[in-house]
Order: sequence, then structure tokens, then C-alpha cells
Amino acid sequence: MSRTWPVLVLRAKTVDDSEELVSGVLADFSPVAIQDLAERPLPPGGLWDPTFPPIPDPPPTPLHWNICFNDPDERDLAAAAIHAALPDLAIEHVDLPDEDWAARSQRSLVAVRAGRFIIAPPWDLPADDVDATVIVIEPSMGFGTGHHATTRMCLRLLSEIDVSDLTVLDLGTGSGVLSMAAALSGARSVIGLDVDQDAINSAESSARLNTLPDTITFKVGDFRTDPPPPADVVLANLTGGMLIAAARAIVSLVRPGGQLVLSGFDQSEVTGVLHAFEAFVERLRLVKDHWVAVLLLPRI
Ligand code: SAH
Repeated sequence: MSRTWPVLVLRAKTVDDSEELVSGVLADFSPVAIQDLAERPLPPGGLWDPTFPPIPDPPPTPLHWNICFNDPDERDLAAAAIHAALPDLAIEHVDLPDEDWAARSQRSLVAVRAGRFIIAPPWDLPADDVDATVIVIEPSMGFGTGHHATTRMCLRLLSEIDVSDLTVLDLGTGSGVLSMAAALSGARSVIGLDVDQDAINSAESSARLNTLPDTITFKVGDFRTDPPPPADVVLANLTGGMLIAAARAIVSLVRPGGQLVLSGFDQSEVTGVLHAFEAFVERLRLVKDHWVAVLLLPRI
């Protein structure tokens, strides 16, 4: 049986700033796909034609989006938040049965830059001479597209670290994007660990899209019960609750003098997270909407 996707259909009556406002609200949620249904001239192969570049300046049209979520509760929370921010926007809740729908609409994703990295879907590869490290990832419904604010902030913080010849651990690797970034930056060894076998499968298939050094390994495992060897740089884009509860385990995975990149928590959790990691000092904090990412160095 094919699953259904919990979807919000949003429509504005006039051309206005809804698109920007809705995008701002959605930064607090994790929609798996956004399908832009506003009537615009289509490229020859249709809206999701991967071989055709996006139309540079589409004529303005009122917002008409399908936003697809993994989880109906999250869809409903997002609907309430969007309604609070934009009371005039028409919002409809539907369940779309077509399993390919989300995958197809993800084709509208384009390459994004984060620090010295560009995360690119296979259909939007930057030119060869681009001045950045390109990580190709096949956007996956469950494990991220690399576009999430926390992922991008982790990449920006990773850009601040010279990982050459260092060992790196990526706790909760998901689609593997942070591990691949570290490996492509010259780390001596990188282990991407995830408790979820499907995440590791998705990381391995993304890895096949890149020319990676053989320094990278993906493994299924829970770092709390099945700890990998400690590393010089530990990346943990988890949740505030998990970071606080597992702080001791995470700290034990950082080699003496090592650095930590933490994200996945919001501004209300910063104090709790920093307190749990008080053996470290904060070197840099990035905030995007409500999300926070920090780079921590050992306290000396
Ligand atoms: N690092 C990726 C994905 C972050 S999502 C990125 O930055 O985009 C968090 C991931 O952590 C999920 O894939 C989840 O399965 C994994 N995870 C959660 N708890 C874990 C644990 N205790 N051990 C290993 N992986 C865990």
C-alpha cells in the first residue's frame, strides 16, 4: 500500500510577501517538499524538468504552494503557525496518496551554499570551476536534503575548522552530508554514525554520487551504547534534549584538545545545552530563525 503524505495547500489572494513570510515560519518545521503550483510559464519538460534551468524572473503570481510533511501532527502545528502569521492566507489540509509526489517536487530543490561548501542535488550541479567544495546529495524524504538551517549552519561552522589530518565523528549522520563535507576537506578519517539503518543506506547512496576519499565510513549504531573511537572534531546535529541528556557520552568522544559542533536546538535551549557542555567554551554561535549552532573549544 502506498503511503499518503500530509500536505498543506496554501493560496494567497494577491501578489504579496506571503512567500517570504511562509518561508520564515517553515524554518521552524521540516517539510519534506514544497511544490510551487502558481501559474507560470513552464520549462519545456514541465515544472520539474531537471535539465532545464529555473526561469530567472518569473512574473509575480499569488502564492500557491503544496507543502508536504512526514508527519500529520507537524503539518497541523505548521498550519497553526502559518495561520497565526498570515491570517488571510487560505490553508487547506489534504492527504496526498501519490508516493512519487514528494520525490518529484523535491526536484525543484536547487544547490545552496553554506560556508565553503555547496550542497547540490544531482540536477543542479554548479560549474566545475566554482570556488567551493561541492557535495552532491540525492534529496531524501526521510533524511534531509541538506537544505535544513541546522545542516547549513553546521557546514558553516565546519568551514571554520581546518580538519586536514584530523579525525572526525558525525553523530547522527542522516543523509551523510556533514561527513562528506569533512572527508572532502581532507580529514584523516571520518565516521558517520546513525542509529537508523535507512539513514545509513541513504548516506551510502549519496556517497556514491561524490568522489570521496576512502577515509570515510558510515556505520549503524547508537553512540551512547556503541561508542566509536574518540575524534578530534565531533559534529552532533541532534536535538536539544538529546544533546543535554547525552552530553557526557558526547564529551567522552572528543579527544583532548578537540572541538565540537553542536546544532539541532533552538534559542530557548541554548543555556541548557551550553551548561551540559561546560567543559568547553563557545567560540562561535550561528542563529537562523530560531535554530542555533555552536562551535565549542576546550576550556583551558
Ligand atoms: N547530520 C545530519 C542529520 C541530522 S538529523 C545533518 O546535519 O543534516 C539527526 C540524525 O541523528 C537522524 O538521522 C537520527 O536517526 C540520528 N540519531 C538520533 N539519535 C541518535 C543516536 N543516539 N545515535 C546515532 N544516531 C542518532
